[in-house]
Amino acid sequence: MQQFNEHITQALADRQQQGLYRQRECLERIAQQVNYQGKMLLNFSSNDYLGLAQEPRLLQAWQQGLQRYGAGSGASPLVTGFNKPHQQLEQQLAQWLGYDRALLFNSGFSANQAVLFTLLNKTHSLLQDKLNHASLIEAGMLSPANMKRFKHNNVAHLRQLLTQQVDQASLVVTEGVFSMDGDLAPLADISKATQSSSSWLMVDDAHGCGVLGEKGRGSCDFANIKADILIVTFGKAFGLQGAAVLCNEQTAEYFVQFARHFIYSTAMPPAQAYALSTACELIQQDEWRREKLAHLSAEFEHVLDDAIAFNNTQSPIKPLLVGSSEKAMQLSQMLNQRGCWVSAIRPPTVPVNSARLRITLTASHNIEDVKYLATTINEVMYD
Ligand SMILES: *Cc1c(COP(=O)(O)O)cnc(C)c1O
Repeated sequence: MQQFNEHITQALADRQQQGLYRQRECLERIAQQVNYQGKMLLNFSSNDYLGLAQEPRLLQAWQQGLQRYGAGSGASPLVTGFNKPHQQLEQQLAQWLGYDRALLFNSGFSANQAVLFTLLNKTHSLLQDKLNHASLIEAGMLSPANMKRFKHNNVAHLRQLLTQQVDQASLVVTEGVFSMDGDLAPLADISKATQSSSSWLMVDDAHGCGVLGEKGRGSCDFANIKADILIVTFGKAFGLQGAAVLCNEQTAEYFVQFARHFIYSTAMPPAQAYALSTACELIQQDEWRREKLAHLSAEFEHVLDDAIAFNNTQSPIKPLLVGSSEKAMQLSQMLNQRGCWVSAIRPPTVPVNSARLRITLTASHNIEDVKYLATTINEVMYD
């Protein structure tokens, strides 16, 4: 029997030795920069893709919401925590994204877990892309359903798994835009494969909603498909916090009855829901934010040395694969010394030997910022 202290000490020592020890850094955010130990750095590691987190109209909406509705919601949604701003936001999301219903959750992590835990029993099968977010993979492992993972974005492999699973109802789950690679799922083909086998498709569009598609409707709109279940999260392009599950009327009712993450958790503050309604409007109205991202993306690719192995993406996520964790950390530090905050992403967040710099562009960057980043990467990459 290992004592808790012993277990903890051992785990920390192992982590340290593998070069995977993680540390939080306390940053102060000022416009698109961060103050790190008294030094201002350009922030290329936030998921605030549209630059809404500091948009004055959004901050004003949150303040207005606080004044009207108070601070906390005071209860879970089935008790007294479901208020007018929550209802308004759910209706707005459902209409914008083309579903009967939207249900609010406090985080994308809990929304994903709620859907998988509530929907699946041991007669079902769950087919997930190998690179799906930790919240999905973990829920799948704990779920009684029979989970299989298909090779990343590999529709042939998915089809093969679907044919092996014909006697079980299958839920196919993929991200719309993959968080660590920035690449898009082949949603049109996945949707076709799913439909021809009468299974369901769930798309986690944490990184696509707001950024892709007509009026920012996201990856599914971009691919011209409709998922049976759509997850949108508000911590990224919405510039806020929280998440929603979009689905048909009956499925929503089913989650309201049975999803424990929904039933037993305090509803998000009504002021936050109110601010999210404004975020929703800004996402649809401010086409210039998406246009600017496209412009910055092209400029980044253009300035970056051809010798650097980089495949541009259609999303604001620009991974630079470097392989070893040490090299990734070293490059991140060199960029930091030259005024750019770019996080190194290491296993187990990404597969072994695929450590990388995860660069993200946002609509609040200037063209000069992005040129400077690319030039600096050109300088440090082969140092
Ligand atoms: C960020 C993220 C989540 C989790 O959302 P939170 O609201 O931050 O909990 C879920 N899925 C994907 C793909 C994500 O990138």
